Amino acid sequence: MVPPAPLRPLGGWRAAAACLGLFAATTAADPGDTRREERMSMVAEQIEVRGVRDPRVLDALRSVPRHEFVPEDVRPMAYDDRALPIGHRQTISQPYVVAVMTELARPTAESKILEIGTGSGYQAAILSLVAGEVYSIEIVEPLAERAKETLTRLGYEVHLRTGDGYEGWPEAAPFDAIVVTAAPPEVPQALKDQLRVGGRLVIPVGRYWQELKVLTRTQDGFEEQSVFPVRFVPMVPGRDE
Ligand code: SAH
Repeated sequence: MVPPAPLRPLGGWRAAAACLGLFAATTAADPGDTRREERMSMVAEQIEVRGVRDPRVLDALRSVPRHEFVPEDVRPMAYDDRALPIGHRQTISQPYVVAVMTELARPTAESKILEIGTGSGYQAAILSLVAGEVYSIEIVEPLAERAKETLTRLGYEVHLRTGDGYEGWPEAAPFDAIVVTAAPPEVPQALKDQLRVGGRLVIPVGRYWQELKVLTRTQDGFEEQSVFPVRFVPMVPGRDE
C-alpha cells in the first residue's frame, strides 16, 4: 500500500504526520488540499448514508483528490453525486459507485487487483490505497497516458498497460479481485480464468440495461450475485475481434 503523499521523501514530524493521515491528501499540485472538506461531505452524504461501511474504503475516498483526475472544465463538480465526462466519450463513475465496487472487491493489504478501464485513473488510485498491488488496463491511448501522468504526479503506485481488457493481464494472474469499469455484453472468459479460487470479479454486464454483478470463483465453478442496475460506458472489443 502506498500513501498518496507527495513524491519527495518526507522526514521528521512531516513523516509522522503523514503516517497519521494528516497530510494524506496533500499534493504537489494542491499543497493546501483546498477541497478536503468537500471530500469529507461527499463520503458522509453520498457514500456512508447509502451503506458503504468498510473503513479502509471510506478513508481512501476521503483521501484521493478526485478533482485532480477530471478535466479542468468539470473540476468544480468533482465532488458532486454524479459521473463526469473525462474526454474521448468516457466518464469517471459517480463516487458512490466507485466506493461500492471497491467494497465488493473485498480488498485487503495483501490483495492483487486488476482493474479494466483505467479511464482517469481515479478508481485505480482508490484501489492502490486499499490493496497490495494494482494492475489497470486502458484501451484508449490518450486516456492511458493522462492517467499515467496523474497517478505518477500524485504518487499512486499502479501497474498500467495500454491494451484490450478482454484479454486481462495473464502474466500477472491470478488476481484476488478484478474490477471492470466498462460494461461488456457478457462476462469475458479470460477474466474469469484469471481469478484465483475465492477471488471476486466485480463487473457491470449488459448492452443497454446493465446489472452490476459479483462472480466469486469457487473450487468447482462460480457463484454469481446481482447487486443493482447500473449504466456504464460499453467495454469495446479489441482490434482483433
Ligand atoms: N475507472 C475509470 C472510469 C472508467 S470509464 C475511472 O476511474 O476514471 C471506462 C473506461 O474503460 C474508459 O476509459 C474506456 O476507454 C475503457 N475501456 C472500454 N473498453 C475497454 C477495453 N476493451 N479494454 C480496456 N479498457 C476499455
